[in-house]
Amino acid sequence: MSDQNNSPSGITVLRKKLQGYVGFANLPNQVHRKSVKKGFQFTTMVVGESGLGKSTLVNTLFNTQLYPPKETVELSHETAQTVEVQSITSDIEENGVKLRLTVVDTPGFGDFVNNEESWKPILDNIEARCDAYLEQENRVNRRRMVDNRIHACLYFIAPTGHALKPLDIEFMRRLHTRVNLIPVIAKADTLTEEEVASFKERILADIAYHKIQIYQAPVYEYDDQETIAENREIMSKIPFAVVGSDKEFEIEGGRRVRGRKYPWGVIEVDNEEHCDFVKLRQMLIRTHMEELKEFTNDVLYENYRTEKLTAMGIQQDPSVFKEVNPVQKMEEERLAHEQKLAKMEAEMRSVFQAKVQEKEAKLKQSEEELYARHKEMKDALDKQRADLEEKKRRLESGRPMTPEKTAKKKGFSFNK
Ligand code: GDP
Repeated sequence: MSDQNNSPSGITVLRKKLQGYVGFANLPNQVHRKSVKKGFQFTTMVVGESGLGKSTLVNTLFNTQLYPPKETVELSHETAQTVEVQSITSDIEENGVKLRLTVVDTPGFGDFVNNEESWKPILDNIEARCDAYLEQENRVNRRRMVDNRIHACLYFIAPTGHALKPLDIEFMRRLHTRVNLIPVIAKADTLTEEEVASFKERILADIAYHKIQIYQAPVYEYDDQETIAENREIMSKIPFAVVGSDKEFEIEGGRRVRGRKYPWGVIEVDNEEHCDFVKLRQMLIRTHMEELKEFTNDVLYENYRTEKLTAMGIQQDPSVFKEVNPVQKMEEERLAHEQKLAKMEAEMRSVFQAKVQEKEAKLKQSEEELYARHKEMKDALDKQRADLEEKKRRLESGRPMTPEKTAKKKGFSFNK
């Protein structure tokens, strides 16, 4: 069984049903095995004023004490006057799968009296990482490429319950074309359910008003209905209202949960009814980590690369993107071949003519030489004959006639 499909480029695609098992259905397993062996790598950035719970959330997300004790970090930027960029890398493993996780923190962001240019060192850092990747791409040996590009940026919004601050808008406006922005409402346990809902609405309205592009997971046709619904559910929670905690408490029924304890009860981090932490973790780690990396590489980095190379004056050859029509291409090739043949023929003809002319000239020259020699010999012979004639005449006039001549003169025939 087969059916045909004509693509716009004129190539005919035959769809065939196989009559037996060939084996390429196993390709995803090959990729899976290879990926597990190689391990995974992910770089995320956290931005927000200090004290919003960034380090607590990262530790909660990856269930590990990724951050060093807070005091040392705090001391280092206490006196700093600018936003710093610090990164921590950690190799973590779960069920035999390795993940090299890098968290890039930006202490100092939004902490000064004047925060006007707070976004700049962060944007510079993101671009510097893209530059480093571009530089590796241009190397002769590209075997060991290190990808330090930021794959996701968690932007922490203070739980004010009102609207985005000018600093939030400025940061997102400046960075949305360079990084996958994922806004989160920090310390959501300090707001009521209704406050969270209205705050989310207001934030989304501000984002839409300022045409800020936050990360949107793509929906694929080939995904099953369940996956599509799950993705929609995740996306509907943006901006994620999160609660972070590395402490555990015992709740009713003797269950131990991670959460924050209040006089009226415990806010559970891993309970979807209490906050969006589970959905954020699901997106960031379980369902969209590869998607975030792909979007970073295929769209954000690609745009940056084009801008950068164009600014450097490097032009793309437009013919590279010209759609190839096979019939037209064959015709062009045939014409080029014919032109080449005609050129070769003309060249051969002119070489042949030159050789003929040269030969003719040589022949003419030798003919003339022969003629001259012939003439010379003839002249010499003529001269010789004239001399002999002269001699003969002289001899005949000075000497008596021979008997034969006398007899002949008298009319007798003479037999020898
Ligand atoms: P960072 O400076 O943004 O990294 O913030 P930290 O993670 O160091 O947190 C600052 C303080 O906020 C700490 O006392 C945390 O225990 C607390 N904190 C962290 N996350 C939350 C949260 O989700 N809710 C509440 N109420 N407090 C939090």
